Amino acid sequence: MKLMMSVNAGSSSLKYQLIEMPEANAIAKGQVERKGLKDSEFELEDNKGNEVTKTLDIKDHAQAVELLFKHLLEANVIDNFDEIAGVGHRVVAGGEIYSNSVLIDEEVVRVIHDDLGKFAPLHNPAQAVVMKSFLKRLPNVPQVAVFDTAFHSTMPEVNYLYSLPYEYYEEYGARRYGFHGTSHKYISRRTSEILGKPMDELKIITAHLGNGASLTAVENGKVVDTSLGFTPLVGVTMGTRTGDIDVSLVAYLMEEMDLSMDEMMNILNNKSGLLGISGVSSDMREVMEAREEGNHRAALAYDIFINRIQKYIGNYVATMNGVDAIVFTAGIGENSPEVRQDVIDGVTFFGAQVDPELNDTRAEAIISPEGAPVAVLNVPTNEEVEIAREVVKFVDVE
Ligand code: ADP
Repeated sequence: MKLMMSVNAGSSSLKYQLIEMPEANAIAKGQVERKGLKDSEFELEDNKGNEVTKTLDIKDHAQAVELLFKHLLEANVIDNFDEIAGVGHRVVAGGEIYSNSVLIDEEVVRVIHDDLGKFAPLHNPAQAVVMKSFLKRLPNVPQVAVFDTAFHSTMPEVNYLYSLPYEYYEEYGARRYGFHGTSHKYISRRTSEILGKPMDELKIITAHLGNGASLTAVENGKVVDTSLGFTPLVGVTMGTRTGDIDVSLVAYLMEEMDLSMDEMMNILNNKSGLLGISGVSSDMREVMEAREEGNHRAALAYDIFINRIQKYIGNYVATMNGVDAIVFTAGIGENSPEVRQDVIDGVTFFGAQVDPELNDTRAEAIISPEGAPVAVLNVPTNEEVEIAREVVKFVDVE
């Protein structure tokens, strides 16, 4: 048994988990959330019920990492740093450079920051800074970069290319890369385990429905298509993002409203989706509450959200020429039996069904009736464990 740390740095946050592998037991977890120059929040919680919560002045990610190590010792989660056998860092964009997890050295950090930063400007540079701090603090511990895009790297050209002049792909890397790959990988692997069938005998549609949302078609353990693209803007309707839209309409609105590209991108990324349609909230729970109270636009936002997911399911049944399992995960997918029921109720033509009693759960479960031709599952995602599993490939845990 060995202790792995899984690190997930966002533009202003740093989430971490210490996980015993191969058992996949989380012994401590927490986050540092910078909410401005002052008033950052530090949280640490271990599996014995101890909690540390502090409001501090944390100026950057490097300082957040130092704080984390200081508190891990102070809270007696670990006695010394040698107990950590490996670290896995989530990286949003691996482009075409990294199709698998890779051991981190200074050159890898440089590539993630300099060469791949343009594909995820809010994430990759911050993640590279965190890696540097970890390398400094734990110079002798294997550290592994785990890419959100890696699971999608098996997509065939037919599905990752846009119908643009081919040179733009060659010169600028203009193609679909996908996101949420670690989550899609975890839930498709769990699906194969729960159903007791090898991955290479399964056609699975995975639906990661959180603030950001994406669906993926996984055939024989390999991604063949995914709904997010060059950026996380397209695909299904999301909390604040449009999902698929006619690009000419974007040009038309910019002209009509005299908007700059930055202003328009801000509308498409931050003011659209559930928030834009409902005018109530980007948060699905609040949209559903307003809908219950008879708010028409909230009901419309909900219906459009469901409809777009159904369209992608239909799309991926066609892409794979069949489907054996549909799996829901993330904030909305894991917690809302109603969303799962409404989505599946619209795609019963190929045999998908939900049993309302089995569906009344937030836990890992098969929610379709026994013997149904298509299995429907709820699988709470666990990206941290999937990251730790990637680290184990580089560290002997026995
Ligand atoms: P992120 O993409 O930021 O990680 P999450 O996966 O945490 O997001 O998902 C957040 C979304 O999950 C929010 O829209 C929230 O309203 C929704 N959610 C959480 N619990 C429920 C629930 N019981 N019913 C419906 N939606 C829920």
